[in-house]
Amino acid sequence: MTLSLPLGSTIGIIGGGQLGRMLSVAASRLGFQCHIFEPGAEPPAGQVAQRVTTAAYDDESALRAFGNAVDLITYEFENIPTAALDLLQDLAPIHPGREALRVSQDRLTEKTFLQQLGLKTAPFADITDAASLEMALAEIGTPSILKTRRFGYDGKGQARITAPEDAAQALADMQGAPSILEGFVDFSHEVSVIAARGLDGAVAAFDPGENVHSDGILRTTTVPARLSASQRTDAVLIAAQVANALNYVGVLGVELFVTPGGLIVNEIAPRVHNSGHWTQNGCAVDQFEQHIRAITGWPLGDGQRHADVVMENLIGDDMERVPDLAKTPDCALHLYGKAETKPGRKMGHVNHVKRA
Ligand code: ATP
Ligand code: MG
Repeated sequence: MTLSLPLGSTIGIIGGGQLGRMLSVAASRLGFQCHIFEPGAEPPAGQVAQRVTTAAYDDESALRAFGNAVDLITYEFENIPTAALDLLQDLAPIHPGREALRVSQDRLTEKTFLQQLGLKTAPFADITDAASLEMALAEIGTPSILKTRRFGYDGKGQARITAPEDAAQALADMQGAPSILEGFVDFSHEVSVIAARGLDGAVAAFDPGENVHSDGILRTTTVPARLSASQRTDAVLIAAQVANALNYVGVLGVELFVTPGGLIVNEIAPRVHNSGHWTQNGCAVDQFEQHIRAITGWPLGDGQRHADVVMENLIGDDMERVPDLAKTPDCALHLYGKAETKPGRKMGHVNHVKRA
């Protein structure tokens, strides 16, 4: 078999959080080296990668040195400044490509793209000021959610509007950032599909997982998800359609709302995804290895699930449960090596594996 990226090559990973850490471990297992680029000090990925550059995303000389030191570039988060990508793209191939980032960095662009593919989304409108919000509320109604177009994660940058009187406060919460109003989707539950597309255009998907959030943060993912056979097929086809339309290379996550009228796409993440962590103990090739396989030109794993899994995030003080979890049978711990425990901070996760 010829693999397109020679073993021993160096993969540059932008972002040094837990996703970058688990990508590094997977890359190492396949015989690659990793070099992390991360502005923050002591990144979790730095503990397991061969090299770390600590520099800001506007530090051109650091970016240039990083780009020259690596054979291929990937990333663990989508909010990379465009200027940094402009500089890096001349130095090494970047997978997933620019189009995936352009589309997913901005909720308005993303929802417009999904609609153009014929996929269902929540009703939405571009909000620039109080007048556009008033008009949008007249059309979309309440309950609805005002979200910043960019830089949102874990439910940050969002304000619920339960009645028109909430509008002014919600707008103030956006702190002047360009925003989008979304109609509230009355879903029965949330699921996500983690799919991969290879350099050759092959697509593979993992079984959809069912996600439970609280305070805007993912708490658990359960596989199998509660879906009919046709909903399961629809979910996987949606992810494949998105990946093909973006000429995507790598792993992506597609978040879906399940409603009586069908599946509604919430958002897409052009990277490995928290709701795919169950694959580490439920599949022969997990999402992290799958991503490395996709971007380096290896054949994709087939996504087959060999066990039922409940993935539970360990957030903040949940870390106090680690000694007990360590004693629990069929329970795989994945800790991120973060120095400081903070409320709302993802410190690790645990996969509860159900034997077949
Ligand atoms: P994450 O980083 O966890 O993906 P995020 O900050 O990108 O979160 P969203 O995925 O847009 O934000 O929203 C977080 C959660 O809020 C969703 O998973 C869902 O539970 C709820 N939510 C968001 N938008 C809607 C909507 N239009 N209708 C109903 N619920 C919604
Ligand atoms: Mg989300």
